[in-house]
Amino acid sequence: MKHELVDIRMDFVLNLLRLHVVKQHGNELNTYCPKCDNKIKGEGHLYINVYKNTFYCHKCGVGGNALQLYAWLNNLDTKEAYREIVQELKGAKRARKAVAEPTATYNVNVVKTENLAPVEQRDLVYREFLNLLDLDDEHREHLLGRGLTDTFTKFKMYKSLNIKDEKSRKEICKKLIEKGLTLEGVPGFFRHSNGDWDFIPYNGFCIPVRDLEGRIQGLQVRIVGDTNGGKYRWFSSGNIPTGTGAKNFVHVVGTFNEERYKRVFIIEGALKADICSYLMDGEMFIGIPGIANSHDQVVEVVKKLGLKYEGEVYVVVDNDYYDKKEVKNSFERIKKKFNDNGISILRLGFNLNYKGFDDYLLAKVRGECV
Ligand SMILES: [Zn+2]
Repeated sequence: MKHELVDIRMDFVLNLLRLHVVKQHGNELNTYCPKCDNKIKGEGHLYINVYKNTFYCHKCGVGGNALQLYAWLNNLDTKEAYREIVQELKGAKRARKAVAEPTATYNVNVVKTENLAPVEQRDLVYREFLNLLDLDDEHREHLLGRGLTDTFTKFKMYKSLNIKDEKSRKEICKKLIEKGLTLEGVPGFFRHSNGDWDFIPYNGFCIPVRDLEGRIQGLQVRIVGDTNGGKYRWFSSGNIPTGTGAKNFVHVVGTFNEERYKRVFIIEGALKADICSYLMDGEMFIGIPGIANSHDQVVEVVKKLGLKYEGEVYVVVDNDYYDKKEVKNSFERIKKKFNDNGISILRLGFNLNYKGFDDYLLAKVRGECV
C-alpha cells in the first residue's frame, strides 16, 4: 500500500482546536485568539482562512498555515505538531484512551453493525471521501435556502451522494485505498464479488455527523426530491453481506472551549443542529437522529460536558409537540432519562407560527419576526 505524506488541512486542525468562531467574513473566520483575547467581546483578533489554509493574529502578529497554527497554540515545533496531528488522524492516541471508556448503549435500527470500524478509521475514510465529492447545484440551493452560506456548507463538508455511475464510484474507492485507507467496516461502503469496493449512492447530500472530539462518526443523508420513506437516512451498507450498517450516531456542533461554553441545546437532526448553531453564532448543539431515540448517547455527551443545572441544558422540540402525543411522550422520556442522571433540562419554547426552531431562527435573522 502506498502511504502519502499527510496533508494537514485547516478544517481538521480547527476540529482539534475547537476555537470560538465569532464571525465569518466571506472565506474567513474570525475567532478569539487563545493567546491574546482574554475578554470575549464583539470580535476576536485571530483570522483564519479555511480554504487557503492560513491564519493570522492581528494582535500577536503571528501567522502561517494550518500546521503552524496547531503548533503555535500548543507550544510545539512544527515537527512535533505534525506528528501529533497525524497521530490524531490515525487515531493512535484515542484508540488507547477509548478502551477505558464505558460502551454506550445504542439504539440500533439497522442491520449488521458488529463489524463497525472504530471511529478513528471512519473519520479518516469519510474525510478523504468527502474531499473527492462535490455538492450539486440543487443541493447547494437547498442549503442556501435554509439560511446557510457557501462558506459554511464547504466548511461543514456537505457533499452530494447521487453518483449513479458505478465506474465513478469504484474510482473514488480506489483512490481512498491508494491513500492507505481501509474501507472495511465503514458504513456505506461494500465489496463486489470480484473484490472491487463500491458505495451506496443516494438521491441527496450528506451531513457529516461528528462526535464531541469533532471526528466524523457517520454520514446522515438528506434526501432531496422524492422523499417517500422519509427525508433522512444513514449512509449505510448494512443490508449487503460485505457492507456495514450505521448506528444512530449523535452529532455535536459548536464551541466548547472549557471556559466559554455555558449551555447546550439538544435538537432533532444533524442538519438542524448545524443550521441552528450557525444562526445562533456558534452556540453548542447536539443533534439526535430522532426525538424518540439515542437518549443514552445524548445523556453521555452532556455528562462529559459537565452541564447539569437548570438553564444549562435545553431540549428543542418542533412545535408539533402540541398536537402529536408521541412527540410529547418522547420528550417526557428524554426528560426522565436526564433527571435520572441528575441533569436538569428545560424545553425551549419558541414562536408557535414556526414548526421548526431553525425556521424560526431564520425568520428572526431575516427580520421577519421577533
Ligand atoms: Zn493573538
